[in-house]
Amino acid sequence: MAGKDNPFEIVLRQIESAKPYLDVEPDIIEAIKYPKEVLTLHLPVKMDNGKVKVFTAYRSHHNNARGPYKGGVRYHPNVTLEEVMALSAWMTFKCATVGIPYGGGKGGIACNPKEMSQSELERLSRAYALGISRFMGTDIDIPAPDVYTNPQVMAWFVDTYEKVKGWSEPSAYTGKPINIGGSEGRGDATAKGGMYTIREAAKYLKLTGKVTVAIQGYGNAGYFAAKLLHDELGYTIIAVSDSKGGILKKDGLDPDDVLKHKRETGSVINYPGSENITNEDLLELECDILVPAALEDQITKDNADKVKAKMVAELANGPTTPEADKILHKNGVFLVPDILTNAGGVTVSYFEWVQGRMGLWWTEEEVYDRLERIMVKSFNDILEIAKRHDIDMRTADYVLAVSRVVEATKVRGFWP
Ligand code: GLU
Repeated sequence: MAGKDNPFEIVLRQIESAKPYLDVEPDIIEAIKYPKEVLTLHLPVKMDNGKVKVFTAYRSHHNNARGPYKGGVRYHPNVTLEEVMALSAWMTFKCATVGIPYGGGKGGIACNPKEMSQSELERLSRAYALGISRFMGTDIDIPAPDVYTNPQVMAWFVDTYEKVKGWSEPSAYTGKPINIGGSEGRGDATAKGGMYTIREAAKYLKLTGKVTVAIQGYGNAGYFAAKLLHDELGYTIIAVSDSKGGILKKDGLDPDDVLKHKRETGSVINYPGSENITNEDLLELECDILVPAALEDQITKDNADKVKAKMVAELANGPTTPEADKILHKNGVFLVPDILTNAGGVTVSYFEWVQGRMGLWWTEEEVYDRLERIMVKSFNDILEIAKRHDIDMRTADYVLAVSRVVEATKVRGFWP
């Protein structure tokens, strides 16, 4: 679980890893490492029992050299300042990876949404949207969903923001419900982008025949990944998990039926016909593709040697530590990094922002078509860099992304 390593330290190491392959002055790299500004909020919220509870929340603006700050808002008990800073930096390099005109931002509230009622969540969400309202907007910073936030939360956010400002501004938030300006295809966009990336990586690795997959996490990213890899690519999903544990069924799970079971019982565990396993077991399963789709800090120096998958496709942000990266690479495991694999979410957020600004709407087909082209090109750009320098895919991705952020920073210059 999150918290063992300081996630922002990890980002700093990832940025540094690109340096030997870039002809860039070290002071310019220094200038793009840290968030430009971070807002900390203490939000008093009236709970259903009549008592006031104070929640700590953040919004980090990492970098806006390539465009406005962009990134989700996470609701989770383990949210910390360092985590939000790291997540905002990953957004900067993610948007640069896929070449969309954004910088990176991120928000988070330390709370446990599973223990809160809908009306408590609404009051907390509105308090947050009000608190950050002077810090954001269509051309400043555009929030979106992340872990345990969803289109309903975005609806409360945008409604609060628009009421405070006194005008309609749908592009101030993305990941909204479709009937108030959300985009077709945004719901499963993270997994869809991941699927295109995994498909390209599988072609490169020549994975054919029965391709087996284990997925850690069964939220928006994990469930849709299971469904799309199963339905569209014909892969066999042998294991999935959630925060309560995992399940294994070697001849394959039916993703929709597992979701039904999770809705009915509160977890994927005890799914009929499967064997219960732990989240740790899942990471060490014999399979072709391992998809971490939950939280940070899952594949570490303690278990990286035990990963038997041929490919690790990071749908979560930050699931693998730098020490683990080295071990996986040494063992010949092909890792497709988070800032590429999960960039489909923010890419379709960008489409939603564009559509909102233009006031016209694209079909699901148009959205997926544009997404596919961006994901396939980004994967191949990074693979080319990895081959050229004989380096792993994460380092190659940072070479590309850091160089793009550096170029934008240099052409703007430093002022005042
Ligand atoms: N939370 C998602 C991510 O980490 C999506 C961000 C967005 O759409 O702005 O990439």
